[in-house]
Amino acid sequence: MSIGSTHNPLRVAIIGSGPAGFYTLSHLLKAKDLAIRVDMFERLPTPFGLVRAGVAPDHQKDKSVTLAFDKHAEASCFRFFGNVEYGTDLTLAELTRAYHQIVFTTGAPHDRRLGVPGEDAHGSYSATEFVAWYNGHPDYAQATFDLNSERAVVVGMGNVALDVARMLTTPIEQLRRTDMADHALEALAESKVREVVMLGRRGALQAAFTPAELKELTELAGVGLRVNPQEVTLNGEEARALPFADKPALKNLALLEAIAADDAPPSARSIELRFRVSPVVINTDAQGVCGIELAHNQLQVDADGWVSVQSTDVREPLTTGLVFKSVGYRGKPVDGLPFDEKTGTVANLDGRVIDASGEHHTGLYVSGWVKRGAQGVIGTNKTDAKATVACMLEDLTAGRMLSAAEGAAVNIDNELRDKQLHVVDFPAWRWLDQLEIERGQAQSRPRVKFTEVAAMLAALQARSG
Ligand code: NAP
Repeated sequence: MSIGSTHNPLRVAIIGSGPAGFYTLSHLLKAKDLAIRVDMFERLPTPFGLVRAGVAPDHQKDKSVTLAFDKHAEASCFRFFGNVEYGTDLTLAELTRAYHQIVFTTGAPHDRRLGVPGEDAHGSYSATEFVAWYNGHPDYAQATFDLNSERAVVVGMGNVALDVARMLTTPIEQLRRTDMADHALEALAESKVREVVMLGRRGALQAAFTPAELKELTELAGVGLRVNPQEVTLNGEEARALPFADKPALKNLALLEAIAADDAPPSARSIELRFRVSPVVINTDAQGVCGIELAHNQLQVDADGWVSVQSTDVREPLTTGLVFKSVGYRGKPVDGLPFDEKTGTVANLDGRVIDASGEHHTGLYVSGWVKRGAQGVIGTNKTDAKATVACMLEDLTAGRMLSAAEGAAVNIDNELRDKQLHVVDFPAWRWLDQLEIERGQAQSRPRVKFTEVAAMLAALQARSG
């Protein structure tokens, strides 16, 4: 009986339940004339990865993509195994015995290093950890951030840097209407931060954030935006990059020029965007971070329009007790798979996991940030997953698959229960989801999140008596 027929469905395991995992599921469900069974494994009891723990609490619209994911999860051929960690609770050997194809969608959970002295001092934090903390990710529920500095510095000019700057300056009454974790609301209510300085190592045209997010910043009530006109004026060399600039970059430049030209009166809270500056040292004293030494940069544009940075001898001190490094996420190695340290991704060709000689590891695939690195918005994962699923279907047609033992996948839940794991299935998650929403309704908020795994499991146990 051919694999993919009603009597012998294609058995697929997806590791990770963020947008990449759910878009992979959605493309598999769309495949024509294919009988399929898909099991998704997730380390946390809750699904949706960065949609839940990365998207800013004041961006609820972006989170509505989960409504479509919920629909996919209703497919009778789909099962969700939450609270099951790949590599610990479930090994590659167990999976390869049970499935024809395995797709890893484990994302890029680490942060990139800045590589300057002082970056690990008290008061210098990773923006990715700050984001996970204020979004209630259980791994960071116990983290602490010392917000006792009037000025905070955010290194980086991406969307995460903008999110962090916005969360640090948005009035607490506004944040209290979101699903920001309660521990973060408490800490931000006591925060002394009044001014955020964002540092871009390249120019205004090279800012990594998207225009919509920058525009949103200009509309933030009670927060003044500042840009030094000189820093957004394209000098002779920089202007050579202009013909290569795409639409979003030109929009960003126009917005930044408008902010620079605006003579707005000073406000109680402010965000300043600086360009062509890099931290060279984070200075510390007995209390922790006490300042940053900045180098002014010169930009160089090559024949393809790529803009690189060269540090000059000009130095500038900046007093601050609080630094957030927001220079991008980085993938972490996945148990049993070849990892490319340079790109921070699993070695792959269009989503097929490959070995050092470029040969495909039969049956193994990747999708999302673990495949292409931490770039793009949520929707980027849709096209990315489509490409991976196309490879999977091509390999199915060619008969290139793992030789899963017939029926084994059906029993993987028993195997997990034999290991005494508290597996959280999709109906159980939906019950938790509803509970969070109800807790939120009482406070006119979208939801009040569970931030600890033990509390989630205890609530589920109490429900089943
Ligand atoms: P990102 O977009 O890659 O931005 C990283 C920033 O850090 C860039 O400005 C980069 O400058 C800078 N940087 C890197 N290394 C540096 C160094 N050594 N010194 C100084 N600056 C350095 O990363 P991200 O902000 O973490 O976002 C990750 C992805 O998630 C992005 O695709 C983003 O669009 C997406 N995201 C989207 C939203 C949204 O849609 N609202 C929200 C959050 C995140 P260079 O350009 O010079 O390298």
